[in-house]
Amino acid sequence: KETYGINHWSNGYFDVSDQGEIVITCPVNGHKVNVSLMDIIEGMKDRELHMPVLLRIENLLDHSISRINEAFRAAIEKLEYQNTYRGVFPIKVNQQCHVVEEIAQFGNRYSHGLEAGSKAELIIALASLQNEDSYIVCNGYKDEEFIDLGLRAIQLGWKCFFVVESPTEVEVIVQRSRELGVKPMIGTRVKLSTTVEGHWQHDSGDRSIFGLNSLQLVEVIDLLKDADMLDCLRMLHFHLGSQLPSIHNIRKGVQEACRYYVSMINEGAPMGYLDLGGGLAVDYEGSQQSGTHSKNYTLDEYCIDIVEAVMQTLDPLEIDHPVLISESGRATVAYSSLFLFNVLDVAHFDPVFVIEQPDEDANETLKNLYEVTESINGKNIQECYNDAIFYRDEIRHLFNRGQVDLRTRATAENYFLNIVQQVQALAPGVEHLPDELTNLREDLADIYYGNFSVFQSLPDAWAIGQVFPMLPVHRLNEMPTREAMFADLTCDCDGKIDQFIGGRKTLPLHPLKKGEDYYIGTFLVGAYQETLSDLHNLFGDTNVVSIRINADGSYDFMREIHGDSIADVLSYVEYDPRGLRDKFRNTVEKAVRGGKISVATRQEILSAFSASLDGYTYYEHD
Ligand code: PLP
Repeated sequence: KETYGINHWSNGYFDVSDQGEIVITCPVNGHKVNVSLMDIIEGMKDRELHMPVLLRIENLLDHSISRINEAFRAAIEKLEYQNTYRGVFPIKVNQQCHVVEEIAQFGNRYSHGLEAGSKAELIIALASLQNEDSYIVCNGYKDEEFIDLGLRAIQLGWKCFFVVESPTEVEVIVQRSRELGVKPMIGTRVKLSTTVEGHWQHDSGDRSIFGLNSLQLVEVIDLLKDADMLDCLRMLHFHLGSQLPSIHNIRKGVQEACRYYVSMINEGAPMGYLDLGGGLAVDYEGSQQSGTHSKNYTLDEYCIDIVEAVMQTLDPLEIDHPVLISESGRATVAYSSLFLFNVLDVAHFDPVFVIEQPDEDANETLKNLYEVTESINGKNIQECYNDAIFYRDEIRHLFNRGQVDLRTRATAENYFLNIVQQVQALAPGVEHLPDELTNLREDLADIYYGNFSVFQSLPDAWAIGQVFPMLPVHRLNEMPTREAMFADLTCDCDGKIDQFIGGRKTLPLHPLKKGEDYYIGTFLVGAYQETLSDLHNLFGDTNVVSIRINADGSYDFMREIHGDSIADVLSYVEYDPRGLRDKFRNTVEKAVRGGKISVATRQEILSAFSASLDGYTYYEHD
């Protein structure tokens, strides 16, 4: 548990059982219910849902929605804020139908709405929400069709806000709302000068690519005044960036936004709504510090600080408190999904043969290298390490020139690995260890080959260096004795994971056991990963399973989606699976005509081809 810091990042949702297995510690009706992940994996196997699998736990999604709403409610009550909070889930963070449907259904009790950044997302919002009190916030650039859809939503009784990103949008909104005879609800997204820490720090402040600066805001206000529609200007919106690690930045941002809010009231706009955007961070590392993958505040602090900052700016000016809206995406969905894969193989960097003295007539450099294996001790490790590199490289040169044979080279490499292992064992007892010796653990780390694609299932790990908590989901009562990184199934040098929480470049793992699967869980992957993924090497969508945990500790498989078949992914890149079958049939038939194979073999080959087309894109056990 300590090795993997579970208590620090799990938010109380995951723990380790006495059997050494990860358990989901799920809040159900105010009680914690424990369910073993290995038990769920067995249930998946019985249903032919093979690894890799994305597992969604519906209760955790519900719980996150409750937590955010309840935390704002408590802050509002504590500080006697004179208005309410409304959450809207930004669909782009996880557009999957099951996720959005669950948010709409469970969020109904809090009138939790949806944020749409495109026409497609607005269509999802219109079809998913069940409660007219839930808000719809439309961000992004909007064409006529987008605006018409939003105006129709208003006609149907929804509170649907158009957040203006550029003055040119105003003209279209004015024109379409006049033509349809619908009064729009307009917001303005402002570009704050407050800069933030974290991954997106270079995109914050004046260089932010979104939002209106003060000049453009004046232009928007004037356009609305000229159209006699200033009374439609109801909301101020800002978004400082995702995964904001520092509460200090958030507070400063809210203060600046409130100044804009006040200015818009002073200009004569009725206002009434303040949208704080997203940014509520997830502590992937559990360090509770303001690092890129962490945050230095709790959810309660986040809510209190926002409510307090708004009151501090508006109260002295006797301005009514607006409805507070937040667009938390990451914090809403991250915990509810985890990604599971099995390990297929391991590459070690250990000596393979027993170290034996070379023969009398062996190559002199090889003998020297052997001497190093015998003479190394705590006092001479740097010197021995340098010698080992020198002799090993010398043997490599000789091999390249054809002067020593393969077996001599292999023996030399084996001696070298033995020396490095000895250095590693002696290093902790040595004062002032040179840098090159401290990194040996990484240089010698095993490579565990996982049945997954980084590009398909953990794209942020590749694209932005996002770290997720990763660990074996069983055997946790055994000491992990290996240090490893992961390689995926793609033939790409970037298809690896060698960054882990806590700044580690290797992960402690267990040696594989023959005939036994070894399962790795990657946690907190519910946000952004699913639709940012790609089909590199044509590894498709994985199997997806949604479970709901019941109060008595049982659980139900609510939904399951079988991952892409090979035929599916081929059709995504414009191949016609039927056409492929026909073409291959012709090739095989030609082999029959040429006498290369019998008709019976033809049938076997064609069946194997068809079975492959229908099969999973990942590694399948027989
Ligand atoms: N709102 C807007 C306008 C965004 O651009 C984003 C994402 O960056 C979000 C909300 C969601 O942010 P987060 O996932 O950090 O809550």
